[in-house]
Amino acid sequence: MAPLTFKVAPDSKVQLAKIDPRYDADIDRAKAEAEFVKLTAELDELQELLFGAGTHSLLVVVQGMDTSGKDGTVRKVFSQVSPLGSYVVSFKVPTEDELAHDFLWRVHQKTPAKGMIGIFNRSHYEDVLVVRVHDLVPEAVWRQRYRLINDFEHSLTQSNTIILKFYLHISKQVQEERLLAREQEVTKAWKLSAGDWREREYWDAYMAAYEEALEQCSSEAAPWQIVPADRKWYRNYAVAHKVVTTLRGYKDEWLSKLGKLGEERLLELKAFREKV
Ligand code: ADP
Repeated sequence: MAPLTFKVAPDSKVQLAKIDPRYDADIDRAKAEAEFVKLTAELDELQELLFGAGTHSLLVVVQGMDTSGKDGTVRKVFSQVSPLGSYVVSFKVPTEDELAHDFLWRVHQKTPAKGMIGIFNRSHYEDVLVVRVHDLVPEAVWRQRYRLINDFEHSLTQSNTIILKFYLHISKQVQEERLLAREQEVTKAWKLSAGDWREREYWDAYMAAYEEALEQCSSEAAPWQIVPADRKWYRNYAVAHKVVTTLRGYKDEWLSKLGKLGEERLLELKAFREKV
């Protein structure tokens, strides 16, 4: 089967212009949509195992240009997952307090505890993206952040955090269509801001910043996945597929842990009953 997402191999070159945002792996839409429903149901089951076993956590990082579908992807892919075991953090312009700390301070506090799924809608990567594009700190400062991010993610994976990072790859053309579409519907216009059009003028600078971030911060344990995202149904399917197939790899381990936990509980219960 053709790949659904494009994994950035460590130390490889990324040329976003060479990846077609309309790529769909030759998959039939109806088939992908039917499969997507099954994947989201399976994700719910896997989340319960993750929660019950309590040995791992899952961190999902979602990045992409304005209108690339970050919110929509999170909403759709995790629609069946229990809110008791998952949460979303949307990283905005840092507050004064956040800016008074190192850039990872606000991020580290939000990483998922064991058993939990934490979803980052924007992330620590903003500190090498928007910050770079708008010269918010000197180059020497943002440049060293690649290493700091790699070290940070390494320490998370060392404590059993499974990290999945998705870059939602849209075309400039589709961004324009989506921005214009929001103007047509008054109930969607709340999402609009003049800032979106202003940011669009920095498209090329953002692409360069994304390319370097993806190249510099794609380790074997925490690789970036480039997701062709001009078609929403494909984007959702590709992300759900990657999340589910990754978690499936842990299923046996979690089931065996749950079996052991279950046996311990039953023994405790038996001992309690024998006492009373
Ligand atoms: P969104 O576009 O994610 O739905 P907003 O319209 O509130 O939500 O945008 C959040 C803004 O915060 C974005 O413009 C993003 O670039 C900015 N932002 C996030 N993190 C940082 C950061 N570390 N430094 C500067 N700006 C940031």
